[in-house]
Amino acid sequence: MSAQLPVIDLHTHSNCSDGTQEPADVVRSAAAAGIDVLSLTDHDVIAGWMPAAQAAAEVGVSLVPGVELSTQSDGISVHILAYLLDPEHRELADLMTAVRAHRDTRMRRTVDLLSADGYPVGYDAILEHVGTGVTLGRPHVADALVRSGAFVDRNAVFEDLLHSRSRYYVRHWAPQASDAVQLIRAAGGVPIMAHPFAHARGRTVTETVIGDLVEAGLAGLEVHHRDHDAVAMQQAGALCARWGLIQTGSSDYHGTGKSNALAEFTTDPQQFDRILERGSGSALMGHQP
Ligand code: AMP
Ligand code: FE
Ligand code: FE
Ligand code: ZN
Repeated sequence: MSAQLPVIDLHTHSNCSDGTQEPADVVRSAAAAGIDVLSLTDHDVIAGWMPAAQAAAEVGVSLVPGVELSTQSDGISVHILAYLLDPEHRELADLMTAVRAHRDTRMRRTVDLLSADGYPVGYDAILEHVGTGVTLGRPHVADALVRSGAFVDRNAVFEDLLHSRSRYYVRHWAPQASDAVQLIRAAGGVPIMAHPFAHARGRTVTETVIGDLVEAGLAGLEVHHRDHDAVAMQQAGALCARWGLIQTGSSDYHGTGKSNALAEFTTDPQQFDRILERGSGSALMGHQP
């Protein structure tokens, strides 16, 4: 690392969930994009940590072990990023396994609804294109429709068929956000709420709910994210100031699955230091700064 400030991107996805690149390729792309500190935060799975760490050591990137947990509060989807958690914490590992199983069931239902209306999707065909143990999501259904030639890309499928108000939208079980926050803390992790005011994704929780999560142990908010407009960033930043929370900014990179570019938003090194101070379940992997 030079005298310049490190470039820190703490929210990315590989094909262990709904990104399009192998974990090691996400890391190599990050290095090429000038990133010094990267977190791979696949949805509800940590299977990418080891291959990502190996690539990170090779290309001189520090890898923050991470995950993005699917949770809910009163039925409203809440994504909780967790950093430096203990990968062997039994209850947390079991929770992620349960969420992945419910996502599998939900994918079958989604495919049934779509195929009943003539859309060319099949559960088995989708699974042929994903690895074992992968966290299944709507993007994998979208990919099947893109392969069929009916849509140009994932985004087109989401706009037409898979958005959260669509008749083809199926919910899946997810834990209470407050329970997930407590569990992440119990596993030594640092819980940060992802894109809290990303209204275009669907309903978002109130400041009161976020306050309750802070009481439960939430450590910070993702302030700078492409799904936040200026008002949302301002609101999230103000909550961080009011409650002394850690502020992050990240890309939410998904390879070619979304237009989000690596390091399009980044985290301030001083804020990252606060994450390092609080996390006790695992250590930085890959290159040691
Ligand atoms: P799920 O968690 O299965 O409900 O699917 C949500 C995921 O879909 C998010 O994590 C995004 O990665 C992805 N997603 C949402 N909207 C879009 C979009 N317009 N284009 C591409 N991917 C999207
Ligand atoms: Fe995603
Ligand atoms: Fe998210
Ligand atoms: Zn994400």
